[in-house]
Formats: sequence, C-alpha cells, structure tokens
Amino acid sequence: MNRNMSFYKFMHKQILVIIALNIATAPGYLIMGYLYTSMVYESIWMLFVTIIALYGYSLYRNYSPDMTIQNKDWWIGRVRVFMFIYSLAWSLMFVYYVTSDNIEMHYIAIATQLGTSVVAATLLASQKKLVNFTVIFLMTPLFLYFASLGGTYSYILAFFTAVLSGVILYAAKNTNDYILKSNYQAYRDHLTNLGNRRYFLEILDSAVKEKQNKYTYLLLIDLDHFKTINDTLGHDIGDKLLQEVAKRMLKFSSDNNNEVSRLGGDEFCVLSRSFDTQEACLKNAEFFSMKLLEEIKKTYLIEGQHLYISASIGISLIDSRKINANEFLKEADMAMYEAKSEGRNGVIIFNDALRELVEKKLNIERLLHFAIKKQEITLHYQPQVDVERKVVGCEVLVRWNSSELGSVGPDLFIPIAESTGYIIELGTYILEESFKSIKEFAQLQLGIQQVSINISMRQLEQENFVDIVEGLLAKYFRKRSKIAIIFEITETSTAEDITSLVRIINRLKKYNISFSMDDFGTGYSSLSYLQEIPVSELKIDQSFISKLADMKQLSLVRTIIDISKNFSLLTVAEGVEEEYQRESLKELGCNLYQGYLFSKALPKEEFKNYCIK
Ligand code: C2E
Ligand code: CA
Ligand code: CA
Repeated sequence: MNRNMSFYKFMHKQILVIIALNIATAPGYLIMGYLYTSMVYESIWMLFVTIIALYGYSLYRNYSPDMTIQNKDWWIGRVRVFMFIYSLAWSLMFVYYVTSDNIEMHYIAIATQLGTSVVAATLLASQKKLVNFTVIFLMTPLFLYFASLGGTYSYILAFFTAVLSGVILYAAKNTNDYILKSNYQAYRDHLTNLGNRRYFLEILDSAVKEKQNKYTYLLLIDLDHFKTINDTLGHDIGDKLLQEVAKRMLKFSSDNNNEVSRLGGDEFCVLSRSFDTQEACLKNAEFFSMKLLEEIKKTYLIEGQHLYISASIGISLIDSRKINANEFLKEADMAMYEAKSEGRNGVIIFNDALRELVEKKLNIERLLHFAIKKQEITLHYQPQVDVERKVVGCEVLVRWNSSELGSVGPDLFIPIAESTGYIIELGTYILEESFKSIKEFAQLQLGIQQVSINISMRQLEQENFVDIVEGLLAKYFRKRSKIAIIFEITETSTAEDITSLVRIINRLKKYNISFSMDDFGTGYSSLSYLQEIPVSELKIDQSFISKLADMKQLSLVRTIIDISKNFSLLTVAEGVEEEYQRESLKELGCNLYQGYLFSKALPKEEFKNYCIK
C-alpha cells in the first residue's frame, strides 16, 4: 500500500511551518551577534538560512496534488534535503557558539540546539529516517560538548543528553506509528483488510494521471446473489465468505502484480499494472478476469458448509484519452451491470456500443416515467386456444408506443421499469386496464374462460399488492370475476419470497384468481418451486417449442407435460408457430396453445373480432 499519499500533503504543510519558525527565531542570532560578537558570522549565517528558506518556499510552490507519484517522490526527496540542511544550519551555529569564550553564548547554543531537536522530532515525525538522522545529528554535538567539559557533572549532563535523545526518538517513533496506523486505517477495509474505496479512488486517480502512453485496466467485480447468502445463512457467514473471497482475490492479484480493493458490500476493484500497448492490456485484462472468476467460483468451506458463489466482472481500459478516475469507475460499472443482465457469472469489456446501450436504457428510463400520463401504454391480447383451436383465453401483453422512441418492446422496458421501481405504477395500471377488458369480454360473452396477466416479482413484493387487487376487483366485478384471472409469474429467488408468495396466492384464490408458472424450464430449480408454490398452470417456454423437431427436445417437453399432469396443472404451450408443433403437443396432452400459428398479440378491438369469427 502506498502510504505516501497523504504524507505528501502533510510534508507540504510542514515546509511553511518550518520556514515560519526559523524566520521568527533566527534573528535572535543577529541580536546575539550585535551584543556579543562582530555580527559577521551571524550575517553570513542569516544569509545562508534565508537562501535555504527561499529554496524551501520554491518547493512549497512547486507542489501540486495532481503530480504523478513519480514526481511526488522526486519532490519529497528534495523536501527531505531541504529540511535536513535547515536543521543542520543550527548545528553550525551551535559549534560556533560553544567554541567561544562567552559562557552566555554557550547557554543560547544549548537551548537552541535542544529546541531544534524537539522541533525536528515533532514536525518531521512522518518521515522516520529523516527524524532519526536529524535528531542524532543535532544531539550528538550537544552530547560531545557536555562530555568534553570534564568532571563528574559533565558526564552526568552528557548522560542526561543521551537519555533525552532516546526519549525524543522514542516519542517521534510513537507519533510516526500513530500516523501510520491512522493513515492505514483510513485507507483499509476492516472486514477484509484490503484497501478501501477511498484508497482505491486515490490509486486510480494517480493511475489516470500517470497514463502517458501507457495502458492500465480496471476491473469491477460484483458477487452474484450475495444478498441471498446473507439473507438465508446470516451475516456472520456472509462476512466470512467475503473474507475468503477477498483472500483469494488478494493472492491471485498479487501473483499478477495487480492491486485489489473492496469498494463496499460485495463489490471489489482490481487495478492492473501498466502495459505498453492496448492489445497487451486488453488481452491481459480478459485473461486475468477469466482466471479470477474461476478462482472465485471454487467451492468455499465455511463453518462446515460448502458454499459456491460466482461474480460479474466489468472491465474498463485506461488509455491516453483525457478522462477522470470517476468516469473509469462508471464505465467499469456499466460493463459490470451488463454482465449481470446477461445472466451474471461473466466478464464484459466496456466499449462504445455498450455506452450507446446504456444511454439508450437511460433514455428509456427517463421517458418511461411519463408513458402512462401520455397515454402511450396500451395492452394487446394474444389468443390462447384449446385442442379444437377454439379461443378460450388470452395473455395480456403490454405495448409502449413512445412519441420519441417509437415502439419499444416489453423485453426492453419491463426490466428497466423493474430496476427503477416504476413497475409498481405500471403494473397497477396494467392490472386496472386488464380488469376493464375482462369485464367487457364477459359482458360480450366472447367465450373466453381465462385471461392471463403477467405480474412482476417486484409487484408481489409490495406489501399492499393484495389490497390493490382487492380494490380493483371491487371496482370492476363487485368482488369476483366470472372469467378466471391468471397471474403469470416467473422464478423467485429466496425462501422468504416463497412464503409470502404462497400467502398471496391463498388469499387471492377466493376471487377466482390463480397463478401460472411462466417460462417453465428456463429458470433454476423450477421443479422444487412447483412443489412449494400452489400454481394451477404451467407455461412451457417458447425456447422448447421452437426445437420440437429434435427428439431430445420432444422428450424433454413430454417430461414437462407429465410433470404438469402429475401436479394436476393446466399446461400451456407458448410460441407455437408451426402446425407440426401443435400436433406433437396435442399428442403429448398439452391443454392450451398460444403462438403466431393462431395469432400474435392483438389490440383489443381486433382481439374481440378474432374471438367472434
Ligand atoms: P412472456 O410472458 O414470455 O410473453 C410471451 C412473449 O412471446 C410475448 O412477447 C409474445 O408476443 C411472444 N410470442 C407469443 N407467441 C409467439 C410466437 O409464436 N413466436 C414468438 N417468437 N414469440 C411469440 P412480448 O409481448 O414482447 O413480451 C415479452 C415479455 O415481456 C413477456 O414475456 C413478459 O415477460 C414481459 N411482459 C409483457 N407484457 C407484460 C406485462 O404486462 N407485465 C409484465 N410484468 N411483463 C410483461
Ligand atoms: Ca407471460
Ligand atoms: Ca413466457
């Protein structure tokens, strides 16, 4: 760890203090000279001291926090020389005065020499070697002076001087330790003992300034689903896991000369050494991240439990473009989020296409906010047919026709609405509009038996979700809808969610609302969910249907349909595009069919016509 970062600032301040102290006290010698000697030596000395002071002042002016680490090191070397010569100047005067015949001058010399030692020990405490050297350099003449006086009292004085020197050095060492420790703590993360965010931002900042035709990379590493571990196994285990992950990262990074810090939570950063070419840097960044990911994914044994965790890694390259540390972090952050949204457990390198994508998403995020108010949100209805091709239901699919962006697909804006929280407002709006339509379909007697509405997990996490639904039911159906309402949900992650989900499902049963497991087979542990969550319908994901010509896929779909039957669930196939798919599914015993073979999602009026014909 580069402990010099705040030391530069500290030493910078000390220069002025030392010059000021000298300006205040050095003229004392001129007075002494005026009173006791010729003033010649004192004047020369004063001139000498002034020249050094001017040199010190120029060093003070030369410093800038924006200097590169190399320049700062060069600078601090000069400052050390300056401080040393400055202290030395007092020793010159000491030697000159104690060799005079006037005993009063001896007293002055002794007092100033002692004073200078104390000043040096206090002001230069951050520079351990400099302090030791200076104090010894100042106290030794004093010691020799006392020892050379002759007689017992002189030896005792010399002895005292030696003890005093020891005490001064000891005090300086303590101060130094303290400064080191508090500096260390300010830049350390307590849990993992890695550098912390503050530390990382400083080394990143200096890396950015140093870049001159060199290339460095920055990795942002975020553990996947760490929150789940914290929530289900407790924070103690979570903390221990973080420590273990940190240990592995530290070992692997140091082996590769990279530096790792913890930004907070389950977020880590790695900064590389510099490369001569962009290609070498990029290649190394990719290689290193893949290996690091492998390292992180090896099993952990914590308190007798075997744990497994993956990570999403974003890479940004620091090249010679003018850009600041925060922007690099932001780029790595964008790349990392992209890795997350691409299914986690991966590495993404930031590039201009990604910047465009992120900007597009931000744009969507901004405009989506006004979409309901501007009446840009509409609902479409995709027919669901039975084995006889009779329309018996539909799935409500939201559409957004933005005045600025044109038509934006729900695949794009729903995840954004979920991440911003806008899904709550949007979801409620979709519910209300759907209920209006359901009421209309019932009055028109379209032969529709069920209407499916997609519900986001975020909506279900709302405390008052059931209240909202009950309110809308009361408004449109006086409590219970004749047409069955199905809420389509996708995989959920934590056990906590499951308990509350089961509670919601049971509360809504009496209103003729049931649940369907959407995209079945694509999430993880879908089977165990089926056991725990009382759904009444299962939707086979379209990815399975599209490959039905393949015998393996066919037997997979057969298995899914068998599972569904075993749980006494209604099976719906989604994305049925070809006649042979419908026939195969029919043979396997699938109940409902939805897909372009019958119709795409239609605006309300068109859907009504579709049902009648
Ligand atoms: P999903 O729930 O899996 O919806 C089915 C998607 O497949 C729809 O895309 C539908 O238009 C499309 N599809 C239907 N039949 C076929 C077919 O034969 N072939 C092909 N290739 N595709 C077919 P859409 O409307 O773009 O919706 C995409 C996703 O957006 C939905 O996936 C759902 O997760 C989400 N979504 C749509 N509407 C809503 C909504 O109102 N609320 C929420 N929370 N999510 C919604
Ligand atoms: Ca759906
Ligand atoms: Ca689906």
